Amino acid sequence: MERLKTREERYRREARVHRCLTGEYRMPLAVNGMKQCCRCGETKPVSEYYKDKSISDGLQCHCKHCDAKKLKQWRAENPERVKEHLRKYYVENREDILEQKKQYRQEAIKTEPYVYIATDRSTGCFYIGETTTTIKERFRDHKRFSNTGLGKHISKHNLSLNDFEIEQHQCLSVEESTALERKLISENIDNPLCLNERRW
Ligand SMILES: [Zn+2]
Repeated sequence: MERLKTREERYRREARVHRCLTGEYRMPLAVNGMKQCCRCGETKPVSEYYKDKSISDGLQCHCKHCDAKKLKQWRAENPERVKEHLRKYYVENREDILEQKKQYRQEAIKTEPYVYIATDRSTGCFYIGETTTTIKERFRDHKRFSNTGLGKHISKHNLSLNDFEIEQHQCLSVEESTALERKLISENIDNPLCLNERRW
């Protein structure tokens, strides 16, 4: 396929195709917020067109729907080039992509603050904590830091979240959950089954 140099040339070609289909040689421009698509021929609101400064009305001559359709078709016909393009994009933007993924994950696991009491079903040992993440994620943290009360207990007995009974107390703010956590810990710290360590 010939490689078309500029956008203008591409649009001229579009217009020629349009003439073949409709018998008219023209590139329809936007009128009163509406514009006719040079591919599907439908008249649609200008919001259905991407911007293009090289066209006098500032809009592409084909609608978003046709644009997406053509891109989809091109992707289906050129799987190797798509793969190569994605690979190149990944290599060039690796840092950004990883950072985005990390941020997305952190957003996805964010919760309102709450206090949790995790009780080991087999021994009755329990741990009191507070968090603004899901309990699953919080346990992952405890596993990572096996020097703290619950982490130590988990790694010593090779436990997972399923081995615990979880009781959650929803709070309206971090201040509230911190205060509740402190209160519960100081009430239970002398209980031999309590896995928390004295912090205050
Ligand atoms: Zn269209």
